[in-house]
Amino acid sequence: MNLIKLAFRNFFRMKFKLFIALFIGSISILKAQYNNPQYKIIDVEHYKLTLEVNDSTNVINANINVNLQFKQAANEFYLDLVERDSVSGKGMKVDSIYQNNVEVNFKQLNNKLIIYPKHNFPNLTYTYKIKYKGEPKDGLVISKNLHGDRTFFGDNWPNRAKNWFPCVDHPSDKATVEYIIKAPNHYQAIANGFMVEETNISEKRKQYYFKTEVPLPTKVMVVGIAKFAIQNIGEVQNVPVSTWVYPQTKENGFHDFEIAKSVLDFFIEKIGEYPYQKLANVQSKTRFGGMENAGNIFYFEESVTGKQEHEDLIAHEIVHQWFGNSATEIDWSHLWLSEGFATYLTDLYMLEKHGDEVFKTRLRKEKSKVLSFYKQSKTPVVDGKTKDFMKLLNANSYQKGAWVLHMLRDKIGNELFWQGIKEYYNTYKFKNASTKDFKQVMEQVSGKSLELFFNQWLFNVGHPILKTDFIYFRKKLRLTVEQLQEKPFEFPLEIALYYKDGSSEIKTIEVQNKSYAYEIEAKGDVKYIELDPNTKLLFEEEK
Ligand SMILES: [Zn+2]
Repeated sequence: MNLIKLAFRNFFRMKFKLFIALFIGSISILKAQYNNPQYKIIDVEHYKLTLEVNDSTNVINANINVNLQFKQAANEFYLDLVERDSVSGKGMKVDSIYQNNVEVNFKQLNNKLIIYPKHNFPNLTYTYKIKYKGEPKDGLVISKNLHGDRTFFGDNWPNRAKNWFPCVDHPSDKATVEYIIKAPNHYQAIANGFMVEETNISEKRKQYYFKTEVPLPTKVMVVGIAKFAIQNIGEVQNVPVSTWVYPQTKENGFHDFEIAKSVLDFFIEKIGEYPYQKLANVQSKTRFGGMENAGNIFYFEESVTGKQEHEDLIAHEIVHQWFGNSATEIDWSHLWLSEGFATYLTDLYMLEKHGDEVFKTRLRKEKSKVLSFYKQSKTPVVDGKTKDFMKLLNANSYQKGAWVLHMLRDKIGNELFWQGIKEYYNTYKFKNASTKDFKQVMEQVSGKSLELFFNQWLFNVGHPILKTDFIYFRKKLRLTVEQLQEKPFEFPLEIALYYKDGSSEIKTIEVQNKSYAYEIEAKGDVKYIELDPNTKLLFEEEK
């Protein structure tokens, strides 16, 4: 997802919403699911959700078939589901549960739906049919859009799916999904996957049926029900692309999302086959700038301007279809495998489309975000300690992750970098991966050990903080480089020498030590030097 590319006004609005969400979330919703023992007991294979919405109340009537296997025998197991609380009246109340047509006992406690199975032999698939209803506290946002029209938008990241359907709400348990949506017929509905059916079931109601063919993490499972104007804008390498926007400003919206086609084409060429049955770009009520829901990306309402202002946001969310949605981080601590990838591959798209200066400007901005984030939070990119997942949407996951990929590309070269990206995707598509898995692929492709590189940039805190001093003496530049941060890093450092006669040249030194004096051949009297003139290194300069 993207938090960054909002206009200022929206940015503050969104920050405020996030703040509210964090505040409420810290009480219950965002309590850590991390290393949850439940994932050792069951593996969900498929969800079939029937969801009925109406205009007179915000209560949803639903039933879901959850197909799952047991990994070990257990007297009880649970699915995540936010229960109805008596204070707000919101949350879900379960009416009945059947295991393969036999009714079973259950209870709802602490936002868990605890089920007592009749049988649970490992390696057999059981279907739990769960009937429930209630007004979602979150996750399925039922409200009015900026034109005052009623809308229903799923918005699950990180683990808010459990507000509207029972599930294992963790990126490591992926499943295929079907949705049967029943809604008043003045709406259109969209969801992940292929639309199999659209039927008028009565004078006033419609039924939609969507189905995915590949497994998804719950964070990107979604439905959207609203008054839409829909434009089919053709196919890109056999992938149908469409735009779903509010009808009041449809001309603007259709124009804004047209660029998605060339973005999609670029990334199919670079990464490999697109993982889903369609790409729909949807104007929505997501709390984020963009939310990469699989096959139907939801963008913030004000993204529609008619000026195509969000090319990089669109690119970012499209990258997520491969990285985050299809090749998914195994746990929240490896979030940079989603966000760092989306950020940097967007930078590379912008490089190809708009040239080197635009690319370098983006990198410099990203660098300054990393440096200022470091001043308030001394955490590594791979951060297993932060349990409030909203706080992982930070400059480490996005901009520092991007910079790590940038330095990796410099280290192994552009060609091997893209080969590695393709190889990593191909190995982990529709599965989960950790940082170590990515490292291993890049080591195989490049033939280099990347142990030190990954450790210092991703598992350690911080970056090089450099202090330099030089004198020119007898055709030699004597340069002292001091690393002021606690642990020394190892990296190549480019230095531009600017001579008194107006010429210049670039030299590269290998920095390893806390402090070291280098002797560099110089062809004349050096007036001044510049560190990293080509924007290749993530570092801070102490003047
Ligand atoms: Zn993102």
